[in-house]
Amino acid sequence: MPGRLAHKAALVTGAASGIGLESSILFAQEGANVLLVDVNLEAAKKAANRVLEKYPNVKAIAFKADVGKEEEVKAAVDTAVKEFGRLDIMFNNAGIMHPADDNALNTEEKIWDLTMQINVKGVWWGSKYAILAMRENPTDEAKGLHTGGSIINTASFVASMGAATPQLAYTASKGAVLAMSRELAMVHAREGIRVNTISPGPLKTPLLMDFLNTAEKRDRRMVHLPMGRFGEAVEIAKAALFLGSDESSYMTGIDMKVDGGLTSAYVTPT
Ligand code: NAD
Repeated sequence: MPGRLAHKAALVTGAASGIGLESSILFAQEGANVLLVDVNLEAAKKAANRVLEKYPNVKAIAFKADVGKEEEVKAAVDTAVKEFGRLDIMFNNAGIMHPADDNALNTEEKIWDLTMQINVKGVWWGSKYAILAMRENPTDEAKGLHTGGSIINTASFVASMGAATPQLAYTASKGAVLAMSRELAMVHAREGIRVNTISPGPLKTPLLMDFLNTAEKRDRRMVHLPMGRFGEAVEIAKAALFLGSDESSYMTGIDMKVDGGLTSAYVTPT
């Protein structure tokens, strides 16, 4: 059985951990070659080895890049094209939630700027170089390969709902990811380049669990979760697989909420 991403090439940022790692594994499982991009090269290499142990028939290559630096994002995309001959799926997933991110009064400008640099400019540059690469994708009808591709940007439920536990810069950055992605989707719709976002709910990954480092902080959130649990990174990866595959060929400009019902909640079950 050919995989759902057979013959495709993918680049995943933040691939060494959490959503990015689980997505890299799933993409490879479905037949894609994957460039695992992360600022932490050692962890990215471990992740690529994990992928290759499970799926030795695909290429899985670790690449060091800080998505907050344009030239490094360009180098990552160039490497994917050089290694795989094309780029079909760009998963702009890397993001930070800084421990010093707070409310309007306490958040320092340097924390705001760092968050925007990585979470917003990183997605802009990732999209920019992916668009340039996807325009050049060779076609091969027999293999189902076309010009264009699928760009997936990781936003967050906080882009759509307010929280009285503030992380002002992070929330604003994810709102920007949503708005930017909708516009990218419209501008490039006729080029066969689809752009969608995923808004995960709160997950059991280091990004959130390092932040929610006491039972009290976790319980403060848990009461608002309709399903009564935090999500798993792999549950987001499954949505990324769908958006990256041709199964979502008529979907662009959408925000896929994978949040256990959180953004539909008024009163949750007890
Ligand atoms: P994670 O901490 O498990 O993994 C993030 C990865 O990104 C790490 O490997 C880290 O080294 C890498 N990274 C950080 N800064 C980078 C940079 N400048 N350049 C390249 N790589 C960098 O986090 P996760 O939970 O998998 O988060 C992935 C995405 O999902 C983020 O954009 C995050 O904002 C978003 N998100 C997470 C949650 C959650 O609850 N965990 C909820 C909503 C949205």
